Amino acid sequence: MTAASSSGTGPTAVGVLSDAAAGGATVVLCAHVQPDADALGSTLALAEGLRRRGARVLATFPEPFVLPASLCWLPGAADLVPPSAVPSSPDVLVSLDAASPGRLGELAPLLDRAGTSVVVDHHASNPGFGDVRVVDPGAPATVTLVADLLDGLGVALDATLATLLYAGLSADTGSFRFGSTRPDTHVLAARLLGTGIDHADISRRLFDTAPFGWLRLLSAVTGRAQLETGVGAGLVWTWSSTAEAAEHGLPGEQLEALVDVVRSTAEADVACVLKGQDDGTWSVSLRSRGATDVSRVAMALGGGGHRAAAGFTSRADREGTIAAIRAELAR
Ligand code: AMP
Ligand code: MN
Ligand code: MN
Repeated sequence: MTAASSSGTGPTAVGVLSDAAAGGATVVLCAHVQPDADALGSTLALAEGLRRRGARVLATFPEPFVLPASLCWLPGAADLVPPSAVPSSPDVLVSLDAASPGRLGELAPLLDRAGTSVVVDHHASNPGFGDVRVVDPGAPATVTLVADLLDGLGVALDATLATLLYAGLSADTGSFRFGSTRPDTHVLAARLLGTGIDHADISRRLFDTAPFGWLRLLSAVTGRAQLETGVGAGLVWTWSSTAEAAEHGLPGEQLEALVDVVRSTAEADVACVLKGQDDGTWSVSLRSRGATDVSRVAMALGGGGHRAAAGFTSRADREGTIAAIRAELAR
């Protein structure tokens, strides 16, 4: 298996990274803003692999530099450094799971300032950026591309690396339920399980653990859900906010799993959760049951993602935001 590359005949990612490792160069790895299990799993796994090969590695993600509780147990998470602690002109910058430069926040300028920038991603909306690209929209998760890179670098997969890769793989495939899951996805999963990882424990930590307050939040949020069968192939939407999460004693990250409940609505092809942020913007999650390409909707509204899962940030008010989504779905 080789990682798909769209950078043509230039240097390969494995070439750039193995040269960097052999020369003891400084490599900065950066996950997307508000990183999820795929972003952090791929960042931490590649960081560990490069470290083992001799590189000086700094792994980071943009502000707010706060790890969600569901991910702070990932091996190596304690070694992540805040964006202010990375050199502004590293030898190599690696962007992981970021659909666009904007998803790197204040670290985006490093794409140009680094000696070489390497972009590892799987979003259909990725416009193509960075000097060397490992971008495969057919990949179910960025961790699958990192697994290929680790193979190319000659790094053996052990339980530490497998834990990181499995976290990203199971998260982005919805535990192997989504259409993006392919035969080779299960082949990789089998390889990872073969290292002896406790996959049930990983899944429990990632998907089946939340404070009691989450039940009350879920009740409030599902209680105000609206079903609009006349919009596109049907729209179900609701909203919450970091402030409402706080009322239930929850950090804002607990808003992320709400859409996974909302999207089960049979009458609506598209599910949407508006998540009010501290700065007054709405972080919007879109999901499709199959008929609608929500990455098109998200891209039209300034965001991106995949056909079945996408998002964007809105500065309009709640009604204006949902009206913009309705208008795009009606197209
Ligand atoms: P979320 O609803 O936040 O879980 O995001 C769903 C998918 O859309 C993920 O693959 C995200 O990386 C992507 N996504 C979310 N927000 C944005 C954005 N503002 N720009 C680009 N991609 C996004
Ligand atoms: Mn992600
Ligand atoms: Mn991903």
